[in-house]
Amino acid sequence: MPTQKQGSITISLELFSKLRGTWEKNMSKLVAKHHVTTYSGYAGKLIDLGIEQDIVEERFEITNMFENTILLNDYFLVKQNIEIIIRNAKLFCQEDKTGDCLHVGYVLSSPVIRKRAKELGVKLRRA
Ligand SMILES: [Zn+2]
Repeated sequence: MPTQKQGSITISLELFSKLRGTWEKNMSKLVAKHHVTTYSGYAGKLIDLGIEQDIVEERFEITNMFENTILLNDYFLVKQNIEIIIRNAKLFCQEDKTGDCLHVGYVLSSPVIRKRAKELGVKLRRA
């Protein structure tokens, strides 16, 4: 039961099993990373991170990836298909002519990009 400072949500059994399985399999790493001691605390951290990510994603959206190029929309600049080029594991923004802009930062923080880079054994960084 939630205390006065807590609320509760209902999630699918499938998602609950995934959460609990991930927690049990990686508990020591997750405790160190998120400073939580229960899978409930872990779920809360993930929701908080997801909300932050969703706010950031209001501005940016990765729309396509091919060969060494990632295409990104920037809804604040109302620019579409900003090209982020990957060369020697370094990211470079064609729009800003730098590897040190918000577009490159967003791409580097994207879980989809990080997962793919890990699969390829590449450590991506700013140009
Ligand atoms: Zn940029």
